[in-house]
Amino acid sequence: PDLNAFERAEVFQEFTNYMEENGQMNFRFMTSINGCGPEMWVTSPFNKTPTKCISLVSNDYLNFTQHPKVKQAAIEGIEKYGTGAGASPLIGGHHDYHELLQRKISKFFHRSEDSALIFTTGYTANSATLLALLKKEDIAILDMAVHASVYEGCKETNVKMFLHNDLETLERILKDAHDKFLTRLVIIDGVYSQDGDLAKMEEILKLTKQYGGFLMVDDAHGIGVLGETGRGAIEIFNMLDKVDIISGTLSKAFGHVGGFIVADPKIINFLKFQSRQQVFSSTSTPAAAGLLKAIDLIDEEPQWRKMLMENVAYFKKGLTDLGLDIGNTESAIIPVKIGDAHKTGDAGRLLLKAGVYANTIVYPGVARKNARIRTSLMATHTRDHLDKALSAFEYIDQKLHISSTKRE
Ligand code: PMP
Repeated sequence: PDLNAFERAEVFQEFTNYMEENGQMNFRFMTSINGCGPEMWVTSPFNKTPTKCISLVSNDYLNFTQHPKVKQAAIEGIEKYGTGAGASPLIGGHHDYHELLQRKISKFFHRSEDSALIFTTGYTANSATLLALLKKEDIAILDMAVHASVYEGCKETNVKMFLHNDLETLERILKDAHDKFLTRLVIIDGVYSQDGDLAKMEEILKLTKQYGGFLMVDDAHGIGVLGETGRGAIEIFNMLDKVDIISGTLSKAFGHVGGFIVADPKIINFLKFQSRQQVFSSTSTPAAAGLLKAIDLIDEEPQWRKMLMENVAYFKKGLTDLGLDIGNTESAIIPVKIGDAHKTGDAGRLLLKAGVYANTIVYPGVARKNARIRTSLMATHTRDHLDKALSAFEYIDQKLHISSTKRE
């Protein structure tokens, strides 16, 4: 508490040095001298030479970052417009590919053509939108497992959290907030990013509307992946026309970088002028033209979604057969729950040594005692990749006793 910002950074440097020297730094891996894909070259503090690993860390679920048609469209965007947008959207940085993209996103969600607004990242889409919309007279009611960007966006408003997917607490908060706040905005994820489980969306919408609130769903991990036509978790619940604000990312299934909001055109218009990010920050580069193709491919090439889901079913069964605890995942995010943070750190390092790169997630990423190895799958993982990854999990279970049957 007595240190200034620079002194705090110095202490933190000592901490990370200590972690690295003791072989406990699971986070500073340099990855990928070969782009995103099911295999990556990884260097780490305990292995300085690049080693080929099976990657279980990417959100590039359909591997569209490598799709020849997406790459071609991005190249054409750069050739036509150059490498940068030149300004923020409001003062000259909004070009025709941005406009086309917003219209395409609106259409993708079966809304009128002025229903979408793009941002430079999914993180900004959430934080900038909420900062612009919610004031002191309002309240954000959050499932406590929502993404960090939502918390960031709620810094200037009132906030109440309900336990993950817990309808009773939500109802209590909604009831209590009814006469106290002008806007009651309930915010949930479609797919939760650490457990891979889905929101109880139908019940949450029903309660929200019963108490006169609005519903915002961040479906970053669902859109492009889940639902009959890839419109996301919201499509599974048949709620595409019922959610007040949909937020999504262009950085996962669509294989690029960026985020978007889909809402009533009046809200979109308000955000264009009132969101500080739209006014004061430059917009995405002409390579975003690749997104115009990526979005089309969701309809034109559904085989990628099918391959991904077959991989998910295969891998989930493999992990469950090993006795590992994968929780309630219903998406391409599959956690292997271990609990103890130290054991999870060891598991991450042993996996890497066995040629499998997966994320070590400990507090504050998840609650204490809820540490896990987080895996995410891609359409382009082969059975051979998945079998090798499963063998690596079997090996670490023999070493560390992480399966539910062996855990003390
Ligand atoms: N929402 C959720 C649920 C996410 O998991 C993420 C990315 N981790 C984001 C938003 C932010 O997306 P982006 O990476 O495009 O900033």
